[in-house]
Amino acid sequence: MPRVRIAVRGIVQGVGFRPTAFRLAAARGLTGWVRNHPEGVDLEVQGAAASLQAFLADLAVLPAPIRVDQVEAEALPEVADERVFEIRASGAGETALPVVPPDLATCPDCAQEIATPGERRHRYPFTNCTYCGPRYTLIESLPYDRPRTTMKGFPLCSDCAKEYRDPSDRRFHAQPVACPACGPQLRLEAPGGLRLAERDDALRGAAEALLRGETLALKGLGGYQLLVDATSAGAVQRLRQRKRREEKPFAVMFPNPEALQDACDVSDAETALLTSPAAPILLVRRRKGGIVVPEVAPGNPRLGAFLPYTPLHRLLLEAVGRPLVCTSGNLADEPMAFRDDEAHSRLGTLADVFLAHDRPIVRPVDDSVLRMDADGPTLLRRARGYAPLAVPLPGEGPPVLALGAHQKATVALGFQGRVVLSQHLGDLASPESADLLARTVDDLLAFFRVRPERLACDLHPDYASTRLAERLAAAWNLPLIRVQHHHAHGAACAAEHGLRGPVLALAWDGTGLGTDGTIWGGEALIVDGPAFRRVGHLKPFPLPGGEAAVKEPRRSAAGLLAATLGLEALPPALRDAFGAGAWAPLCAMLDRGVNCPRTSSLGRLFDAVSALAGIHPERGFEGQAAMELEFAAERAAPEGTYPWAFQGGAVRVADPSPLVEALLHDVATGTAPEVVARRFHAALADLALGWARHGGLPDVVLSGGCFQNALLTGLVIERLAAAGFRAHRHRAFPPNDGCIAFGQATVAALQAHGS
Ligand SMILES: [Zn+2]
Ligand SMILES: [Zn+2]
Repeated sequence: MPRVRIAVRGIVQGVGFRPTAFRLAAARGLTGWVRNHPEGVDLEVQGAAASLQAFLADLAVLPAPIRVDQVEAEALPEVADERVFEIRASGAGETALPVVPPDLATCPDCAQEIATPGERRHRYPFTNCTYCGPRYTLIESLPYDRPRTTMKGFPLCSDCAKEYRDPSDRRFHAQPVACPACGPQLRLEAPGGLRLAERDDALRGAAEALLRGETLALKGLGGYQLLVDATSAGAVQRLRQRKRREEKPFAVMFPNPEALQDACDVSDAETALLTSPAAPILLVRRRKGGIVVPEVAPGNPRLGAFLPYTPLHRLLLEAVGRPLVCTSGNLADEPMAFRDDEAHSRLGTLADVFLAHDRPIVRPVDDSVLRMDADGPTLLRRARGYAPLAVPLPGEGPPVLALGAHQKATVALGFQGRVVLSQHLGDLASPESADLLARTVDDLLAFFRVRPERLACDLHPDYASTRLAERLAAAWNLPLIRVQHHHAHGAACAAEHGLRGPVLALAWDGTGLGTDGTIWGGEALIVDGPAFRRVGHLKPFPLPGGEAAVKEPRRSAAGLLAATLGLEALPPALRDAFGAGAWAPLCAMLDRGVNCPRTSSLGRLFDAVSALAGIHPERGFEGQAAMELEFAAERAAPEGTYPWAFQGGAVRVADPSPLVEALLHDVATGTAPEVVARRFHAALADLALGWARHGGLPDVVLSGGCFQNALLTGLVIERLAAAGFRAHRHRAFPPNDGCIAFGQATVAALQAHGS
């Protein structure tokens, strides 16, 4: 009989691979064994040649959450008298490895079970199996076995134990396996913790509260969430006031795909992503007149929509029978609450009632946010369902720990040729979020048992991440590599695509400290591994009030005018729209040059243009003006562009003066704001091409928050490709600052490699 050794690599641990292989082998009459290997799974299989071929073919097409990246087979001598196929235990050393599955959405089989009367797990909110359920949020340490998860407090009943031990069962070695007899239970609580109901009564009580228009704090998979009826304007407004969140869109969870289709236009590709094991929040197009009230996402043509990804969410949404706003349980800039005591102390004034349970959450993991673009998905926030999946690290240097930037913080740990990126931790604006960053560092190092030998951080001295990196470098006596913000952006995108040689990086975002002490953000850099060179940038303009400009686009507009045509070029109608009282102090500030840091930020140029086009003249959340400019441009047909004036030799400075002049002429002659917005987007594609030609390199990488803009990204890629360049955008990480820690780790690893 032929025998083969098979090495399988990919996402194959903690996702039911071994029992699946067991069943497939048994079905084809094969003998041998399967076991976990440090980098995946190894098998030896023996039987008829045709059966072996069929088995190999089976392995190549296993369904999600298993993801087979590579299968290698090699012939072995026959083993005599082998009668069975078995699942072999892996040695402790072999499983203490950085292959940790993310949390996985409820699989179809488990969904069917909880919906079926008479099943042991009918209506049980903590049902899971080897293909689905909590992982990263309940694993305390590796190797991944029940005693090292938060399920250790729930001894298996005899029925569950039988399933757990049976290799032919879907729950074979499913570490979080549970049932109503032995597993976690629900409880309904008043703010402060007074218990109101338990088990199914708790669930029904929560549903009734939601239907009454109340706010529910729900202990979900990776933390507490705040839920209200998405069809009630009053309930949504109340949540906005309590959460101090004026206009920023909320995500909405729909009871099922059909309900989502009723409210939004969803393509097949989008449905596939929504129902995948990652089950992210997806930004989809809203339909007009759907039942979700406009207050959920004011003025936004898209809606962050998702489907229930745990049995608990499923049962709750089914009981309510309508879409629910489902947002992170936090106040303004604080991180999401995930422990029961902190939930009551921090969310007590936000929620009317709490639906909690007795399964502890080890680490907070927020919902991921994606958008499906013409050429595939774009990650906007990488957390549940994606973290802590590893990606390859260029360079085989010593272990490196990178602390990221200030917004959309993440921590990256590079070791053994790979990088593990933490879940999205939010902005580091509050002391609580700085604490979370420090705890995440401790958690990652303990979890993967890595001792970093170098640290990386941003160039900005005042970021909480930089200060933490400095403290750790001093305490551990390690070298600290300070990576310029936009260098990190470019390096991250290049590394994602395995580009080793020099590339032109277009790093376009809101804010990042440059090597010259000014704020950068409209950059063309030649990134060559650990080194970079600035070859182009936007001509800097002053920002009256500095950081205040982020939420007040008219400040950027004033600064842009001051640096180009002069403040008097502002049309009187716009001056009135800006508020005459607000405009005069800005002009005075610019005249005196007080508190007017200069910036080459493209994000601020977006804000300025949005204000000048009359699209968003006043205040809003960060990025709102740019988003509204994008939405306006989407409504217009492509028609025309605005010119630039390029200056300089080695460093090509893009002066927007002619752009501003043409734009103001359009505004003055009554051109629709949509057309103005569209022409501005076309001008940015021209800018990209101008810098690409100047850079003279075939590969161009696009990174930075501006490339969250789907229209801009599409236009730039199209323009560059038409001129013969290879343009690459982010795929595995977000284009925003969520990729910075990865970029820093890459730069530090390449520096170590070269030194
Ligand atoms: Zn399942
Ligand atoms: Zn049980």
